[in-house]
Amino acid sequence: MKRTVFYRSIVLWNNLPVGVCEIKGKTGFKKRLTLEVVSCVLVFCIIFYYLNQFGSAELKEEFLLPSIAGDKVACLGVSEVGAGSDVSSILTKAVKKGDEYVINGGKMWTTNGTQAWIWIRLLANTSDGPPHRNKSLICLPMHLPGVHKIEKLGMWSSDTAEVFFDDVRVPCKSIVGQEGMGFTYQMLQFQEEQLWAVGNIVTMMDNIIQETIQYTRQRKIFKLPVLYYQSVNFRLAELQTEVELLRSLLHRATALYIKGNDVTKLASMAKLKTGRLAREVGDSCLQYWGGMGFTSDMLVSRFYRDSRLLSIGGGTDEVMLVIICKYMDTLAKK
Ligand SMILES: Cc1cc2nc3c(=O)[nH]c(=O)nc-3n(C[C@H](O)[C@H](O)[C@H](O)COP(=O)(O)OP(=O)(O)OC[C@H]3O[C@@H](n4cnc5c(N)ncnc54)[C@H](O)[C@@H]3O)c2cc1C
Repeated sequence: MKRTVFYRSIVLWNNLPVGVCEIKGKTGFKKRLTLEVVSCVLVFCIIFYYLNQFGSAELKEEFLLPSIAGDKVACLGVSEVGAGSDVSSILTKAVKKGDEYVINGGKMWTTNGTQAWIWIRLLANTSDGPPHRNKSLICLPMHLPGVHKIEKLGMWSSDTAEVFFDDVRVPCKSIVGQEGMGFTYQMLQFQEEQLWAVGNIVTMMDNIIQETIQYTRQRKIFKLPVLYYQSVNFRLAELQTEVELLRSLLHRATALYIKGNDVTKLASMAKLKTGRLAREVGDSCLQYWGGMGFTSDMLVSRFYRDSRLLSIGGGTDEVMLVIICKYMDTLAKK
């Protein structure tokens, strides 16, 4: 798919209920989309969310419109070398000098970070106040010299970068919403981000199981299709059952969210289950493809490689467990 067309389609999805995204997947619209593509979609939707909700008209004009038109690429700068799970401990600073912010620090794991015509939605400390009240979101154009590309296990068609800021100056009007509200804004879209992540993967899991059924039906071993063996068809039935359970949880959480409820617990449960189930689906299905599963251009092997990120990116499994424990009131008190 051409990048411009792709980005425009993303915009159509943004702010639509997660259930709709998943239904689009079911109708085949993104049947062959891979996880890399979805990770770009996710990055876009998260960034657009903030800008759309809290950004000034001027910022929307400068950054949102060209992104919708497919002329600029966006990326998200939250994680740092020393701060991933613990976002409150980021060190990047934006110090106000006159009518500018002077930014120093660096961001790690920035998806899309190496591409030209890019801008970043950055989380930085804009004061020395308490960690949840001293952060702000800032939009700024990026230039390539301070960017270093990271080689990865999977997600090869989505680039990931380490970005450095050395006395980078931006006008104060580049701030999104109110100064000091960056952490709060960051958390506001958390439920949508989790639900998005789940909604985009369940259909891919269906696709992997379906492709595996097709392959094992025609591949014969000892004169019988691989699918004939009960260990194979039972396992595929188990996996499909788990996917359906996950889908039900997603739909329930989404329906409650649309009605205005706080679904952080359910969304975190769904995100946790997604990462773990994707690993099971990838591992079991790849096995049934034999050597073909180990070749790099098979969808199942890409899924195996790429799905490992689901338990890490956008909040690790352990972070999801911490959130669930908080809601269950079982977290050990310090
Ligand atoms: C390919 C890729 C793309 C990414 N894209 C972006 C992006 O575009 N923008 C962005 O800002 N970030 C991005 N990230 C960063 C991602 O969000 C972080 O990697 C993630 O939040 C984890 O942070 P960390 O890597 O620093 O791990 P750490 O925080 O160092 O975690 C290390 C381990 O400690 C565990 N842990 C944490 N808390 C607990 C606990 N309470 N109990 C037990 N164990 C715990 C974690 O689960 C993990 O297993 C990306 C990451 C990758 C790999």
